Amino acid sequence: MFQFENYQKILQELGNVHLIAVSKTKPIRDLQEAYNAGVRDFGENKVQEMCEKQPHLPQDVRWHLIGHLQSNKVKYIAPFVYLIHSVDSLKLLQAIHKQAQKHSRTINCLLQIHIAQEKTKFGLSYKEAENLLQNTALKELKNVCIKGLMGMATFTENTEQIRKEFRGLAEFFRHCQQNYKDFNLDFQELSMGMSGDYRIAIAEGATMVRIGSILFGSR
Ligand SMILES: *Cc1c(COP(=O)(O)O)cnc(C)c1O
Repeated sequence: MFQFENYQKILQELGNVHLIAVSKTKPIRDLQEAYNAGVRDFGENKVQEMCEKQPHLPQDVRWHLIGHLQSNKVKYIAPFVYLIHSVDSLKLLQAIHKQAQKHSRTINCLLQIHIAQEKTKFGLSYKEAENLLQNTALKELKNVCIKGLMGMATFTENTEQIRKEFRGLAEFFRHCQQNYKDFNLDFQELSMGMSGDYRIAIAEGATMVRIGSILFGSR
């Protein structure tokens, strides 16, 4: 069930920060309740689940893919996806460009940076992200636009650790804003913070938070 009161409370805390309501595993009626309350940005982590839900919600919903994406699955989301938060290779970016071209659109993307200590989480290191941004092959990708960065902090009670990781990502974001400019590079969005750590993320400069369990209950 959509937690209307939690939603109202979070809106108060957000200011100009965009809220992505993470609806993964939740049934369509929960998304409809959220939509009726005013939510327009929904985050899903699986291609198949997002494609199943998309036709059931109004056309003005902005669909955010926040989970790992395989190149061969880009075609399913290319017609409608609003922002892909989880780009972690040039190969994936090339696949997104190709599919975007087929639909005569530009697909907005974020580079996912690995900032957590856990090895299991996907994403580029800072060095790998720099290499990607300096790769001349990027200039050929006319139908993608890199809009910013995404990161997930370590799952820990240690708030100083989380703060340190978000702060490092925010610093790298500013570095990218200053140093990487091109027709398809437009660093505006810093997607960081989830139910457990969004306040820290906002304090450290997030422009987007991805919140699931506070809005829809635990999974
Ligand atoms: C599930 C998920 C979230 C939301 O997690 P909550 O703790 O439920 O807020 C945010 N980002 C990503 C990438 C996720 O997979």
